[in-house]
Amino acid sequence: MDASVTIPSTLTPAAAAGRTWDALVIGAGPAGALAARQLALTGAETLLVDRAEFPRPKVCGGCLNGHALRVLHAVGLERLVGQLGSRPLRRFEVYSAGRRAGLTLPDGTAVSRARLDAALVQEAIAAGAAFLPGANGIVLPRAECPQGRRVVELTSAHGRHTTVVYSRIVLAAGGLGHSRSLPAGEFRSHVAHKSRIGVGAVLAEPHGYEPGTIHMAVQRQGYVGLVCLEGAALNVAAAFDAEFVKRSHGPAAAVAELLREAGLPSIPDLSSAAWAGTLPLTRHTRPLAGNRVFLLGDAAGYVEPFTGEGIAWALTAALAVVPLAREGIVAWDRHLARRWMAEYRRRLSGRQRVCRLIAAGVRRPRMASSLLGALSSVPVLARPLIERINGSPARLQGCGS
Ligand SMILES: Cc1cc2nc3c(=O)[nH]c(=O)nc-3n(C[C@H](O)[C@H](O)[C@H](O)COP(=O)(O)OP(=O)(O)OC[C@H]3O[C@@H](n4cnc5c(N)ncnc54)[C@H](O)[C@@H]3O)c2cc1C
Repeated sequence: MDASVTIPSTLTPAAAAGRTWDALVIGAGPAGALAARQLALTGAETLLVDRAEFPRPKVCGGCLNGHALRVLHAVGLERLVGQLGSRPLRRFEVYSAGRRAGLTLPDGTAVSRARLDAALVQEAIAAGAAFLPGANGIVLPRAECPQGRRVVELTSAHGRHTTVVYSRIVLAAGGLGHSRSLPAGEFRSHVAHKSRIGVGAVLAEPHGYEPGTIHMAVQRQGYVGLVCLEGAALNVAAAFDAEFVKRSHGPAAAVAELLREAGLPSIPDLSSAAWAGTLPLTRHTRPLAGNRVFLLGDAAGYVEPFTGEGIAWALTAALAVVPLAREGIVAWDRHLARRWMAEYRRRLSGRQRVCRLIAAGVRRPRMASSLLGALSSVPVLARPLIERINGSPARLQGCGS
């Protein structure tokens, strides 16, 4: 996959509007692209739309944990990891309040999100899904939809053209900001008080960090994760208090200050990197499904990304939603919404609870560094935690398509 080659749309907006789709997937991140692929493989007429052109950058640590790798394996996409030239991960080093602690990782890999997401979109297209990039999707209120269908308004990136598309079901997989494109009378979004924001950049210059290790600097104001991607690129991803970024006059200075405080080597030319930011991270939208609409991935909700679980959750939800979406395509039944909420909780709530606890812990760096110190001196203590975050194979049973 060449990250500089744009993936063309497979149809025009007018052609997309000319029929009723079985499934319309809004958002071509890992959640949306994999769900579109799996639905298309079942024979469902599937349209995948994204407001961005692909490949596109994404603020993310770029780490696939064991759980994410096993989901890819379950759907026959484990080859992507090798094809994309991803870097196996062996160590997790945390620097906090002047201390350093290291844990050995059983598995995991680092890959640029531009390449991973584009590869998943190409897999969806290869499976038969139609792909329309540069189209912002807004689900119209139920009252404005004809019987048996949901209506989605697609607006071109420059806002000049609007098309109306009909679908039997809609998968809402638009990531953190997706609540804006769902009807307010049917879905409510809650953003946690003092939620942190994400910032990130990929640096091509020499940086002195070795591949195979996640370096994490944790301080009171937030944390920065550094990892080598394919080639010599360094992925920098951080979650900060918004006020700290403002006080530092931007993400580059905020990252530099945090690395210095934590005792990590400085990175040259941070200020000339192309930085991107996110909306506040910790949030959820409810309900998780409404009439002919299922939410998945970050669109459903997210906790701080310290443990690098987000892609695994997105991929897990993408697989889990397919049987219910299939039923909804044939005939919508309001119990499908309740079943999705139960299924989502069953598969993800436990993991999200652990991550919430860890995220709360890293807001107290001294406590976190003492704990990590203990875990690294007695590694056997760390195993249950790493297994819990990484997803033991047993816990993934039932994840296949
Ligand atoms: C700082 C940081 C570090 C992280 N590190 C890791 C990590 O190392 N490992 C990990 O597993 N997770 C990590 N995460 C979390 C991970 O990035 C997300 O959980 C993951 O990207 C969720 O995938 P998704 O498909 O739900 O959404 P996204 O990847 O956000 O994709 C959503 C897509 O929807 C599109 N979209 C949005 N709205 C619309 C619309 N209205 N119409 C059309 N298209 C739309 C967007 O353009 C985007 O392409 C990190 C997150 C942050 C912020």
